[in-house]
Amino acid sequence: MITRNVSACIREIQKHSTPDGSGTQTILYLKGCPLYCNWCPNPEFRNPEVRLLWDPIRAKHYEDGRIYTVQEVLELCLDNLDPAERTASGVTLTGGEAMMQHTFVYELLSRLKDLGVHTAVETTGYVPEGQFAKLLPLIDHLIFYVKHYEREAHRKITGVYNDLIIENLRNSLSSPSEVEVRLNLIPGLNDRPEDAEGFARLLQRIGVKQVQLFPSNNQTDPSNRNNTQGSASPFTEVELAAYQDAFQNLIR
Ligand code: SF4
Repeated sequence: MITRNVSACIREIQKHSTPDGSGTQTILYLKGCPLYCNWCPNPEFRNPEVRLLWDPIRAKHYEDGRIYTVQEVLELCLDNLDPAERTASGVTLTGGEAMMQHTFVYELLSRLKDLGVHTAVETTGYVPEGQFAKLLPLIDHLIFYVKHYEREAHRKITGVYNDLIIENLRNSLSSPSEVEVRLNLIPGLNDRPEDAEGFARLLQRIGVKQVQLFPSNNQTDPSNRNNTQGSASPFTEVELAAYQDAFQNLIR
């Protein structure tokens, strides 16, 4: 039975018109993340609860996150609960790690599927296998971010080993979801040609055919280009093209 008063802590809800103007796409940013990435641009996401934070510009406290029930979110996403009047085209859940609040995510995705709304989820893949398997059939488009191919290096840059992530990625490939794999490329952490080779070998082994490269360019000190803490300069276009070539040659 669907319990619509199941709730979650959400940091932000964005609504956009679809490019063809035929409806709306809603993006939910759920709080909570079990990883500790060195380069995390939004460390506030890690805590899964509403927190009181200080805004130094406005010199006052504000609440980071808000509790929403499934029913509240449905009403926000759908605009109109009457199917004939509804304009919602799709809903995307992201974080942090959206699946960390898995009970809420399960209830919300179940309702959206019942209503025929397209569902997408962005994930780190670091989710208990049972919870991940339960959510998979409810996800039309799964966007899977992979951060490192090597177990110990993964722990060093994110705080966790990648075994669970690889297992969940492998399982998702045999599900009906459309799986899109994205590689977070972080200067100084996984951007060398040998890293392209390492990623390609891993992804080939588990059956991934296509990947999207996502360079993280929020690190700006060129003197730290090879700093293992991730304080390094952005990718140049030439470097990215070389990485892409190395990767494509290997994954064919
Ligand atoms: S997965 Fe994303 S939100 Fe979580 S720590 Fe890493 S960068 Fe931050």
